[in-house]
Amino acid sequence: MFQQKMDKTYETKLLRVDRKGFSDSVLNEACELLKKGELVAFPTETVYGLGGNALDKTAASRIYAAKGRPSDNPLIVHVAEKEALFSVGREVPEGAVRLTERFWPGPLTVIVKKSEIVPKTTTGGLDTVAVRMPSDEIAMSLIKQSGLYIAAPSANASGRPSTTRAEHCMEDLKGKIPLIIDGGPVPIGLESTIVDLSSERPLILRPGFITLEQIREIIPEIEYDPAVIAREADKNAVAKAPGMKYRHYAPRGELTVFEGSPEKVIKRINSEIAEKRRHGFKTAVLATEESIAYYNADIAESLGRRTDEGEIASHLFEMLRKFDDEEADFIYAESFFSPGVGRAIMNRLLKAAGYNIITVSD
Ligand code: AMP
Ligand code: MG
Repeated sequence: MFQQKMDKTYETKLLRVDRKGFSDSVLNEACELLKKGELVAFPTETVYGLGGNALDKTAASRIYAAKGRPSDNPLIVHVAEKEALFSVGREVPEGAVRLTERFWPGPLTVIVKKSEIVPKTTTGGLDTVAVRMPSDEIAMSLIKQSGLYIAAPSANASGRPSTTRAEHCMEDLKGKIPLIIDGGPVPIGLESTIVDLSSERPLILRPGFITLEQIREIIPEIEYDPAVIAREADKNAVAKAPGMKYRHYAPRGELTVFEGSPEKVIKRINSEIAEKRRHGFKTAVLATEESIAYYNADIAESLGRRTDEGEIASHLFEMLRKFDDEEADFIYAESFFSPGVGRAIMNRLLKAAGYNIITVSD
């Protein structure tokens, strides 16, 4: 593993695209940049992506450099038609085709063996490639109009929460890329579900908006990679997705997640808050509509209604960034275990907390 260095600096432009009949001039400019091997941040339905030509080694290494991303953490290749899976992949299994028929365009990434045309810089040195066809119309137009396959990880600085608004991209990538396309806040707010179909045993490497249960309808034997369900960063578990081993999504303040009955959790968090405030620290709480009124923190943010997982998911990264902006020293979060999208929410939250979770028992 090594860290790529930036080869130049940029005056970063932030150009707004109106989704109703969007402006071709911004798209044209973005396509010209991409064709020259430069990078463009753009909205997708999951999070903002930092795009570059997936088949161009130089462009791919610029992505690692701009994010400060370790070179062995592979990129997802974004395509605009399902057939592209066969040009960037090889020996594509039946299951992969069926999944893409059901879920593309959409928040699902499949991993298959890579074809010769994809450089190993893009795949972090692996012989496999991650592929996704997004549904966002700006993302799709960019891929189609440029005529490229676009490698795009989340458009955040490595280790920070993913970007769900163009302003977040500016915070992290200003001076490092020439253009950010502002398409407003993204609808989903969590990165794609990643399914590895490159080996005998199909596995979910990253939970997302498309759930295990939905994938099981197509591939009954699908399971989570053990690292996904690990409560602690299990040092013995071999991380299949190289990204699994790196610190992720972390706010600057110390984040602790609490699980247990709502009353007990509220009481415990309030006592932690009181203790930290006595020592002059700034405290924050990540709560829900139902609970927010009960907390005494300096900063209290609601992710939405507990019953609406989509709403919770879409605000998570934004709130983690907000705590950074407001310089919270200690952040306390409720937990969101549930079988559906809750899995993905907790996966991100636990990573952000460095697996720092406390069970408040009765
Ligand atoms: P990001 O684009 O920032 O959401 O990160 C992409 C994620 O996809 C990383 O965690 C990678 O480890 C994972 N990924 C991409 N390509 C592969 C691959 N060929 N094999 C396993 N994981 C991959
Ligand atoms: Mg990322």
